[in-house]
Amino acid sequence: MSFADLGLSDELLRAVADTGYNEPTPIQASAIPSVLMMRDIIGIAQTGTGKTASFVLPMIDILAHGRSRARMPRSLILEPTRELAAQVAENFEKYGKYHKLSMALLIGGVQMGDQVKALEKGVDVLIATPGRLMDLFERGKILLTGCNLLVIDEADRMLDMGFIPDIETICTKLPATRQTLLFSATMPPPIKKLADRFLSNPKTIEV
Ligand code: AMP
Repeated sequence: MSFADLGLSDELLRAVADTGYNEPTPIQASAIPSVLMMRDIIGIAQTGTGKTASFVLPMIDILAHGRSRARMPRSLILEPTRELAAQVAENFEKYGKYHKLSMALLIGGVQMGDQVKALEKGVDVLIATPGRLMDLFERGKILLTGCNLLVIDEADRMLDMGFIPDIETICTKLPATRQTLLFSATMPPPIKKLADRFLSNPKTIEV
């Protein structure tokens, strides 16, 4: 299996080649074609398996080929910590270097001013921790009605940190017709329940 077999665009294959990766990891080989076919996914995978690229790469292709609605974010990636959110943003920049997609990193511990400015300019992707996203949402700074692609990453850590009620609220603000990708190292009952409620006919991939 090579990256060229997964259905990614030439620009993305070029960005992947620039990183020096020789072949997709098992989660990438399973998830990328399914995400490109717009399936919902439950990825049971630890950090270190290459799971970030398994959602960032196909998301870039989906966003690059879709039409952008004026100034509204079209996708949302939820991460439990600022550090993880920042890492995903770096991945987005690395793999998206041949695309003109814009993103906003919405995390706590930094002033809201720049985040609000980015949102006002319009972005394709939001990469956020639940607390800061909720805060901006409640202040009326974010419209989530155009976000039809959602990633809930590290769901079991979200559970440990008490973020599930926030995630449920956020899910109800997104369009009901959307693609949802959920990643978790383990599947405790509350995460299974979350997936049952907010994912539609998901494909489960366990690595
Ligand atoms: P992640 O599980 O997403 O945190 O990725 C773990 C590490 O694997 C990161 O440093 C990635 O840059 C690296 N990585 C991701 N995909 C591949 C691949 N196909 N081949 C080699 N390394 C990779």
